[in-house]
Amino acid sequence: MTGTAGRAVVTGGAGFLGSHLCERLLETGYSVVCLDNFLTGDPGNVGHLIGRRAFRLVECDLTEFVHIPGDVDLVLHFASAASPVDYLKLPLETLKVGALGTLHALGLAKEKGARFVLASTSEVYGDPLQHPQREDYWGNVNPVGPRSVYDEAKRYAEALTTAYRNTHGMDTGIVRIFNTYGPRMRPHDGRAIPTFIRQALTGLPLTVAGDGSQTRSICYVDDTVAGILAMAASAEPGPINIGNPDEMTVLALAETIRDIAGSDSEIVFVERPENDPAVRRPDGTLAATRLGWRPSVPSDRGLRRTVDWFADLLAVTGEREEA
Ligand code: NAD
Repeated sequence: MTGTAGRAVVTGGAGFLGSHLCERLLETGYSVVCLDNFLTGDPGNVGHLIGRRAFRLVECDLTEFVHIPGDVDLVLHFASAASPVDYLKLPLETLKVGALGTLHALGLAKEKGARFVLASTSEVYGDPLQHPQREDYWGNVNPVGPRSVYDEAKRYAEALTTAYRNTHGMDTGIVRIFNTYGPRMRPHDGRAIPTFIRQALTGLPLTVAGDGSQTRSICYVDDTVAGILAMAASAEPGPINIGNPDEMTVLALAETIRDIAGSDSEIVFVERPENDPAVRRPDGTLAATRLGWRPSVPSDRGLRRTVDWFADLLAVTGEREEA
């Protein structure tokens, strides 16, 4: 079935970002085929969409050949482990989905004549020597460092997407997504925001890496999804940064989350991971001028919504009772 807006395929659609994308696409009149092997995602993330006529969930591994019968207008390629805990545990799977998975997703878009949007990442800038990061900055990545399985997979995926565009005249776009947070992140996925929220809500110490002076720019998921869909609706090739320039230190982030959660957990300092970026902030000029997109959810509001969602989740799973 094709919706009034067309038919979209979302790879990695049962993950955090992918599930929000599926939801928004359905709201805007697309019919959606969600492809996922549930490696780091969960069918429960799209459980509320199952049964809708315009939605189909297909279990499949993108590193294998992928075939979808019928027309497809848009392919959003989001399949990939994304949190450091996941990709350090799954190094080969991460490299394979970046290489073979992207190849197969591009092949699908080529076969169908669909627009293709690649979920790339601010991690392609590595530990950046330019601040804030503009899209014409080539990055500072250690190709054999622990994070390289993710960073280089995404850099390769960008190169492959560009080569398909140039060789086959395909309609492709690349978004470089910066740290995004919101409901449906996993409490134990190792990323700073869900970790701090879980710790604050369960009375555990908040574990800040290093002295906490490294910075991150955090974007609420609804804003990120709106930016991605603006890219999908455009003919822009990118890469275009999608992120919130609202930069804060990791220590300030921990303190803010502790306040919002009404927690009296202490803050402790733990060893900082190797090659952890010192600063991170998108230059949002291209997103604003080419896509007309700017983030609009202030961090205190987005964090409150996320803390509330985690409080409900942890109460259901029983983890909150330990506090
Ligand atoms: P996630 O782990 O929640 O979602 C990734 C999804 O991909 C999961 O559902 C997983 O099961 C699926 N997947 C992995 N390998 C697969 C394979 N071989 N075949 C089929 N499905 C597969 O992560 P996320 O945070 O939602 O990230 C989604 C995408 O956005 C990733 O490509 C990530 O690199 C990119 N991104 C995310 C962020 C962020 O802040 N969340 C930032 C930059 C880029």
